[in-house]
Amino acid sequence: MISYHNSPVNVLASSSDANSIVCASNPQILLDAGLLYKKLLKKLEFNIPKHCLITHEHKDHSNAIQDIIKHTPINIYTSQGTAEKIGITKYHRLHICKHNTPFKIENITITPFETIHDAKEPLGFVIETDKMKILFAVDTAYLKYNIRNLTHIAAECNYDIETLKEKVKQKKINFTLAKRITQTHQSAEELKIYIDKIDKSRLKEIHLLHKSNNNLSDKKVEQIFKKYKEIIYE
Ligand SMILES: [Zn+2]
Ligand SMILES: [Zn+2]
Repeated sequence: MISYHNSPVNVLASSSDANSIVCASNPQILLDAGLLYKKLLKKLEFNIPKHCLITHEHKDHSNAIQDIIKHTPINIYTSQGTAEKIGITKYHRLHICKHNTPFKIENITITPFETIHDAKEPLGFVIETDKMKILFAVDTAYLKYNIRNLTHIAAECNYDIETLKEKVKQKKINFTLAKRITQTHQSAEELKIYIDKIDKSRLKEIHLLHKSNNNLSDKKVEQIFKKYKEIIYE
């Protein structure tokens, strides 16, 4: 098994180019398949997990799906809307999941929840065993649900408000695009507010995902998450 620091959250890729994370160990679960199949194979040392959760249809989250389905007996878990958009509704190992309807993968309980994004039926997931409870949410304007007892947060931290405003002011990014970003992606500030308000008694790790190098400065990340610096992973 591949793990860089003994964590149940192993980020293979996370940006607006490609998103793929491996989580848990028994069994391993692939969260999004945005890396190209060949790259994914390489990163996973040719061991593709038997289960894959897909958050939504955008290419940076679903690029490898058709190839994975063709080459491995993988179980895919996603919403009806996402399955339709990716074109996998006829796949015999497709499991349709719904907002707030938990299901099991062996000893792991998965609870899907709605996210706010410009996709057909986007979802985030809470992945839970008796030892851990992981929040996985990418591509969402903000997090609607207050989830208790989390041990790991793996969530979008796309931009910071100041940098984005500055980019608009300097005309490096147009206003319409900036507005779209704020309506469909989560800012560092928004994520910090969420973490501040939830119960943190078991929280061990915060993984900042789907960062935009152009719209989020390292300095801002450092400032905003100062009080969590011991548990931040980028
Ligand atoms: Zn994305
Ligand atoms: Zn997206």
